[in-house]
Amino acid sequence: MKVSTRSSINSVMVHVGLDDTDSTQGKCTTHAAYRITDYLLNNKSIEFVDYPLLIRLNPNIPWKTRGNGAVCLRFRTSHHEDVLDRIIDLVHKENLVATGANPGIAIYRGETIPYTIQCFARKALYDVVSRKTAEELARRHQIRFFMDGNGQGLVGSIAAIGTLLQEDHTFEAVAYRKQEKCGTVRILDSAQVVQYDAETFPYTFNNYDKAHHRVLILPHGPDPVFCGVRGESAEVVVSALRKLKISEKLEGYMVFRTNQGTNQHLQNEVGFTDIKCYTAGFSQCRVDSRPTVIEGGHAMFSVRDPVGAVINAAVYEPTDMVNIASKLEVGDVIRIGFGVRKPSSKHLRTLNVEYLLVLETKEIFETVNPICLTCNKRMKSEGANKGFRCWKCGLRNRGAKKILIRKPRTIETKLFIPSPRAHRHLTKPIHRYGMEKNVTSTSEINLWSAWFCKT
Ligand SMILES: [Zn+2]
Repeated sequence: MKVSTRSSINSVMVHVGLDDTDSTQGKCTTHAAYRITDYLLNNKSIEFVDYPLLIRLNPNIPWKTRGNGAVCLRFRTSHHEDVLDRIIDLVHKENLVATGANPGIAIYRGETIPYTIQCFARKALYDVVSRKTAEELARRHQIRFFMDGNGQGLVGSIAAIGTLLQEDHTFEAVAYRKQEKCGTVRILDSAQVVQYDAETFPYTFNNYDKAHHRVLILPHGPDPVFCGVRGESAEVVVSALRKLKISEKLEGYMVFRTNQGTNQHLQNEVGFTDIKCYTAGFSQCRVDSRPTVIEGGHAMFSVRDPVGAVINAAVYEPTDMVNIASKLEVGDVIRIGFGVRKPSSKHLRTLNVEYLLVLETKEIFETVNPICLTCNKRMKSEGANKGFRCWKCGLRNRGAKKILIRKPRTIETKLFIPSPRAHRHLTKPIHRYGMEKNVTSTSEINLWSAWFCKT
C-alpha cells in the first residue's frame, strides 16, 4: 500500500511513532508530538505528508495510560539522520520517565508501510499485543526504536506507524497551555461551548452533554492540554476553537487526524467460544436470558452466538442504556459492540456493551383467563383442569381454556449507543453513522495551512 506518491530526489519518507509519554505529573503524548512538530516545521528540509495521527488503541488494556493514545508523524526529509537524533533528544527532554511514563518511540524509513506492521497495528486496536512482538517486528523491519520504563510504549508507537487511517477518521484540534499554567483551573465560558456546538453540529461533536449539562472538551488533570475540539475537518475544528475566545494565553494548538469517534476497535466479528479477556469486537447474537437490573443500576443478561456459545453481557448505568436493555427478551436478535472484562471473584467473564443494535424482536405472549360471556369479565380458575368460574355471576365453564395475548414490545429495532458522558475516545456518536469518510492514499491529503499554531 502506497503511503504517498510524492517524492523528490534524495528525500526519504519518515514515520515517527510515539506512545506512553503520559505520566501522572502532567505530560502527554500529544504534547510531546506538538513540540516535535514545532521543531520539524522550523526545519526547511521537512515536508509533512499527513496531519499528525492520534490513534486510540484497544481501550480495554488494563495497563494503558489514560486514553491509550499513540501518535504518528509522517514527513519527507533529505536530512533524516540529523532530524532523527534531534527527535530522540526532544523525547528524552519532554518525558518524565522517573514518575511513571513508559515512553516508546519508533522511527521507520520507507515509502510504504510493510503489511506485517499494518497487521500488527490492526491487532493493537482490539487485542493484547506484547512488547516482545513489537521488538521482534522492529528488528525485522529495521525500525529504529527507543524505549524506557517498562517499554510498553513501544507497542503503541509501532502501532501508530502501522495505522494508515485510510478508513473512517475524524479530526481534533488540541490546544496546549503554557507550562506555568499546568495544574491550574481551566477557565472557559460554557455558554460559548453551547453556542459553537449549535453552530457547527454535526461537523463537530462531543462538545457538550446536554442531558447532564457538562462541558466535554476540557480534561481535568494537570496535563498541558487546555481543551480539544473534535470534528470532521481541520477547518471546522480550528474555527470552533477560535470561537471560544479563550482568555488564558496558550502555547498554541495542533490538529490531529484521528480514529476517535469511529468505533475502529469494534470492526472484527467474534464468537464467544474462547473469547479473550481485554479484547474488543462485535457479535450478532440472540438474547439468552432476560436482563435483570442489579445493584448499581447495571443491566445483566446473557447472549448466545450462532454456534450456541453463551456469555454474560452487561450494560452499565452511566451509559444511560439500562432502560433500553431491560426491555430485551429471550430470543431477540441483536448486534452488540463490546470489550471483554476479565472474570473476578464476583463476576464471570462479561461483555461490556458499547453499542446495542436491535435487529429483530421476538413476539411475546402472556396467558390470561377467559372472559365470561355474560358479564364480559375475566373468569377465575377453579383449579387445574377444573375450568373457570365467573366471580360476578357465578357462571361455570369447565371447557374454557386460558388464552394467549400478544404483548406489545416497547423496544425499537434500531441502534442505541451510550450517552456522551460515557463515551470513550473511540465511541462513534450516533449522528456520525452515515458520515463515514475515507482516503485511498495519503497523497490525497492536502494539509490545511492553519493546522499548526504557536502563539
Ligand atoms: Zn359472569
